[in-house]
Amino acid sequence: MNISTPQFGTVIIGGGPAGTAVLLAACHSGRIKALLDQGVAIIEASDQIGPGEIGGHAINSDSTGATFVDCIQHGPGTIFDALRADPLTLQLLAAADRAVPLVLAGAFMRRVGAILHQLVAAHPGCAVLTGTQALSARRVNGGWQTRIRRADGQTSLLASKNLVLATGARQPRERLGSEQIAGAPLLAGCAERLMQSGEILRVGGVEQAAARLRAIPAPKIAVIGGSTSAVSVVQALLTRLPQNLLSPGAITLLHRRSLKIYFPTVAEARAEGYTDFDENDLCPLTQRIYRFAGLRFDQREVIMRALAIGGRAPDPRLVLHRLQSADPVGRDIIASADLVIAALGYRPNALPLADAHGTPIRLFAQSNPQAPLVDDKCRVLDATRTPVANLFGIGLAAGFVPRGALGGEPSFSGQANGLWLWQTAVGGLIVDALLAAPAITRPQPARPRQAPRTARPDQPLAISLGAAE
Ligand SMILES: Cc1cc2nc3c(=O)[nH]c(=O)nc-3n(C[C@H](O)[C@H](O)[C@H](O)COP(=O)(O)OP(=O)(O)OC[C@H]3O[C@@H](n4cnc5c(N)ncnc54)[C@H](O)[C@@H]3O)c2cc1C
Repeated sequence: MNISTPQFGTVIIGGGPAGTAVLLAACHSGRIKALLDQGVAIIEASDQIGPGEIGGHAINSDSTGATFVDCIQHGPGTIFDALRADPLTLQLLAAADRAVPLVLAGAFMRRVGAILHQLVAAHPGCAVLTGTQALSARRVNGGWQTRIRRADGQTSLLASKNLVLATGARQPRERLGSEQIAGAPLLAGCAERLMQSGEILRVGGVEQAAARLRAIPAPKIAVIGGSTSAVSVVQALLTRLPQNLLSPGAITLLHRRSLKIYFPTVAEARAEGYTDFDENDLCPLTQRIYRFAGLRFDQREVIMRALAIGGRAPDPRLVLHRLQSADPVGRDIIASADLVIAALGYRPNALPLADAHGTPIRLFAQSNPQAPLVDDKCRVLDATRTPVANLFGIGLAAGFVPRGALGGEPSFSGQANGLWLWQTAVGGLIVDALLAAPAITRPQPARPRQAPRTARPDQPLAISLGAAE
């Protein structure tokens, strides 16, 4: 290792909601000073930490306004005091247990990120490197050496004991090549008519879909998937496509599993006539139905209507089709659709990694389209499903499945993709591990020191699971 390579206890790659969640989890549990004392560097490709991609979605959240703000709602006399009085914070708080536009969540995370940036950058031995891309990382001396490229094109190395991958996720189109839908390969014959959910949900995405459909009389749209993203696509199309493109039966949602509806209590579900659940679908901590897997807010209402729950009148523009393994009707719907939208999930971006000999480390996540990046302690898994030493992962599509003390319905097999959980218990697991591992070297400052920070770290906050959801 080069003597001039800056040394850190932890390098966090990706300063979006997940990367900053690790810091917020440390704030919550009163351990931010201990963490920063070990030396932390955040590497972020964009020019700011905090928002990542979340604000680029033109839909409402599936978590509450209060949930987003919870990360700064603890103890007076913290670095977040001023932000608590900010009009944007008050606007999110006023939404209380309702959804909010994700653009607002993004704007809020930008402000949280600016405060965290100041906190980290001012701490001796820590650095925030925005406008900087992490290119790869290699095991060196029991830790990691990360190659980075700054905005001016210069590349250099950072050394750390620990590495946290918070690099977000994408929807690789090549993945769709292996997807069998209704007994046929998805891409066969519909590649030209295909969009992915992420494209639709982004700002400008529905307008792009409208432009494709504009010249077609009574166009048909097939949306494939049963997750929140799939129903978000349906909701966005129903509410924002020009009405002349939405004749009866215009949109078909093709889903494999039953569509799960969140209910805060069994009594409320029964009052609406909803019975598609059993003991296995109740969170043992909160007694909520489908606490993790259930559709909420806008998406919930779309499906409540489509299933005529509680006497709701179905929207004639939307048809539900439950996919079977061999399904000629499903195949026909896809074949005759003018636009096919795949909402089949995201895959983690991660980073090219190599062992001490420079041999690439193949990750379990690369073995198949469902394989998680991390285990139940947020440790990144190699191809043999063994945790890679001192390597952690968090964020969209990392594949963390909440279990045990985190609650959630036993039947849940999906991923926890929510800021609040990352900022509390999930980020807390990573902080536990980072603080347990002794630092290999005493952290050196990566660049000239700035003025010492004046704000003091946050007070501990007892994590009350479910309280903010
Ligand atoms: C449509 C949609 C709606 C969602 N709605 C909600 C919601 O309502 N509530 C909720 O809690 N969650 C929601 N989520 C889930 C999740 O909170 C967001 O997706 C969130 O943006 C994920 O944060 P992230 O940090 O994992 O990834 P990102 O937001 O993608 O951030 C990753 C960051 O890492 C940086 N980066 C990546 N690679 C590198 C590299 N090699 N070097 C340097 N920097 C790098 C990127 O520049 C980016 O800033 C939603 C997700 C989707 C897709």
